[in-house]
Amino acid sequence: MDINSLLNKNLQELCSIADKVRKDNVGDIIHIRALLEISNICYRNCAYCGLNIANNHLERYAMNTNEIETLGKRACDIGYKTIVLQSGESKHYNINELADCVVKLSEYGLTVTLSLGELDYKQLQLLKSAGAKRYLLKFETADKTLYEKLHNGYTLDNRLECLQAIRELGYELGSGFLVGLPNENDESIVKNLQLIQKLRCDMVGIGVFIPHKYTPLADLPCGDTELTKKCVAITRILLPNCNIPITTSLGEFGDKYQMFNGGANVIMQNITPHNLAKNYQIYPKKLELMEFESARKQLESDIVKMCKKPL
Ligand code: SAH
Repeated sequence: MDINSLLNKNLQELCSIADKVRKDNVGDIIHIRALLEISNICYRNCAYCGLNIANNHLERYAMNTNEIETLGKRACDIGYKTIVLQSGESKHYNINELADCVVKLSEYGLTVTLSLGELDYKQLQLLKSAGAKRYLLKFETADKTLYEKLHNGYTLDNRLECLQAIRELGYELGSGFLVGLPNENDESIVKNLQLIQKLRCDMVGIGVFIPHKYTPLADLPCGDTELTKKCVAITRILLPNCNIPITTSLGEFGDKYQMFNGGANVIMQNITPHNLAKNYQIYPKKLELMEFESARKQLESDIVKMCKKPL
């Protein structure tokens, strides 16, 4: 079925189709990933993001590789299989040190996913050889003009080149987009979904735009959550085997587990220490106050209550 006719269906109908596709193709396992926000230092100026270089209302931090390894070990000991290292885009880390850190985390038995922004081919290659398995880099919008307006000085072509390198190097490829960016229309949503399909993403994260007060888009309304959920469900229908997280931005609006019944099969649990996480406000969000050990137990029990299997 083509994307336009899928978009014309209502959310409930899409969710029930997507739920069946999910069950038939990837089963009832919900993958729990540990998300560690290793640094909020960022040289980019993404107009929607609270970490953008022009925001000086936050304290910038970067965890050192010892701290990352220690937390990774703790996450591994309580049952996490995957750790996602996420940061702003900067040259803060020495790539060889980061590669050693990937080696360590992999030795603990963790699958390492990276989400560090655009890196060059050599850097991506080094981290891949060190054992990193997956890379997450959203294209944010497939509309070239809009992309360039929101990322002054950066191009969609560069982003796509980086995604191409990630694929070529044998990483599992994660990408995705935001719903609710300014000047978006029905056609942009179709283009976003077509690009997801064209990239044959292994993982797809679809977030809803939430304005952040220290960005140029501060006065814009939030994105349409219903449309965002429809995009999640359609993604499952287009790519039956991919991994789809319930994105945290959607979780800010009520039932955070809803999309587990509409195609999603992954959740990222934030394990960033509280004193740092408060400075990783990409958009204004509630902070997880529970220690991450208890948070994982709670989550596992929530997943079992939904008749699914936590992994
Ligand atoms: N620097 C890395 C990590 C980006 S942060 C990179 O460039 O890939 C992770 C994601 O947060 C982004 O890909 C973007 O889709 C999302 N995000 C940023 N600002 C947002 C906002 N205001 N509302 C909702 N999601 C946002």
